[in-house]
Amino acid sequence: MVSRVIPVDDFDLVIFGATGDLARRKILPSLFRRFHAGQMPDQARVIGAARSDHDEASFRAFVLEALKEFARVKGAKASDYKAFVARLDYVTLDARGSEGWEALKALCARGATRAFYFSVGPSLFEDLAKRLHKYGLAGEETRIVVEKPFGRDLASAKALNAALARHFDESQIYRIDHYLGKETVQNLMAVRFGNMLFEPLWNSQYIDHIQVTVAETVGVAGRGEYYDRSGAMRDMVQNHLMQLLCLIAMEPPARFEPDAVRDEKLKVIRALEPVGPKDYVRGQYGGDEDHASYFDDVGDEDSTTESFIALKAHISNWRWAGTPFYLRTGKRLKNRASEIAVVFKDTPHNIFGDDAGRHRNILSIRLQPNEGIELGVTIKEPGPGGMRLIDVPLDMSFAEALGPDGEDVPDAYERLIMDVIRGNQTLFMRDDEVEAAWRWTDPIIAGWEERREAPLPYEPDSAGPDDALMLMHRDGRRWREIKE
Ligand code: NAP
Repeated sequence: MVSRVIPVDDFDLVIFGATGDLARRKILPSLFRRFHAGQMPDQARVIGAARSDHDEASFRAFVLEALKEFARVKGAKASDYKAFVARLDYVTLDARGSEGWEALKALCARGATRAFYFSVGPSLFEDLAKRLHKYGLAGEETRIVVEKPFGRDLASAKALNAALARHFDESQIYRIDHYLGKETVQNLMAVRFGNMLFEPLWNSQYIDHIQVTVAETVGVAGRGEYYDRSGAMRDMVQNHLMQLLCLIAMEPPARFEPDAVRDEKLKVIRALEPVGPKDYVRGQYGGDEDHASYFDDVGDEDSTTESFIALKAHISNWRWAGTPFYLRTGKRLKNRASEIAVVFKDTPHNIFGDDAGRHRNILSIRLQPNEGIELGVTIKEPGPGGMRLIDVPLDMSFAEALGPDGEDVPDAYERLIMDVIRGNQTLFMRDDEVEAAWRWTDPIIAGWEERREAPLPYEPDSAGPDDALMLMHRDGRRWREIKE
């Protein structure tokens, strides 16, 4: 299937932190894919900026290496890569100094849409924002893109929002949560609001519960210092899992427009009930012959940071009262898989009798790997063996629709960067959403810190601590298996 390429306006995109990990692995490869798809206008330029010394040629060579490693693009030829890097410039610049800013201004002198991607630590956000004005680089149409972590609690998120608001209007600030750019996540909205089938059933009358799992096989080695200050709750739940929960639970917005969508998401966060100690389980992975333990990875054997968390959340509103949302995420688990599972209730009466077997409808939305949506439907087992029921999937997997290995499923960053250029904030978090999310997570974290709770150890390559299974067993439910 050939996807339609919708042209965007001419642009200059400046990447602060262009020599960093995120730029190499995600931002630059995503731009190359858009270029290769024919979406980058002829005059559009990408300008890298960081303190490292590069001239144009060495930066282009650096990017070429990154693309070879991280940009898997079907049908791309060596000449395509060369043509893309010919669009790149580089400025040596210090976010905290004066070097390089005039040179950057000279490179951005055209009248194109101007966007600045802050791919640097949050401590530099205000330095950059201030200098963009000081050196005459920012106007009313300028956009800035900022990355997570957006604060580590409500107070720091408010301070960061206030710092950005001193220099830019909210309509110019694009807070990325790349989960929102995933094709399946947008499809969740298409499935909910583009079909008559689901929305009438999308409530506590018909849905027993919802599970959201984001499981990773990797540990925290390499980013142990950052991770140990953060933990699974701050690193994953407060942003990615909360965003997924909002999209599942929100009321239909009147229009698919930025503030209409974000208003509805905000209402969900505000309706979340506080979570007490009985409703969460924290874990920390141990080691074995093949794997280093969490302690080894962070170099601190007294660390009480969680690398796993499972929790039960309730949304106190008309639609969801009585339907729990179970969220879990962790590192060093047995498989890498992210999934939202909407588990419908049993039929009110089983006309086939117990021997026939009984299955629930489950709508499973897989974010990775093999992005796709699957609906489990009960049918009769074929053959003459009487009325026996089996569960078969109605599969809407994108890999099949979009080519082998899902090669053509666009990366979340591709979509989001193009949305920045288009000036569409629908898939970006607004200041009040981020703050509301921290307002909910802060007391949960403060609770376990006050009680000095240590996380429970769990085996590497497992599904997390056994107590996480109990969190659902107690309610007569169970987690779906974490399958790749
Ligand atoms: P990184 O690898 O440490 O890169 C940081 C970049 O910032 C480098 O290019 C560095 O280049 C530049 N930099 C540092 N100090 C600077 C200064 N004073 N002036 C100008 N440039 C400066 O970090 P990263 O992993 O790319 O992450 C960047 C941001 O994205 C962080 O906020 C991170 O939390 C967030 N993020 C990253 C990922 C990821 O997968 N990596 C995922 C989600 C969010 P020089 O040293 O050459 O100046």
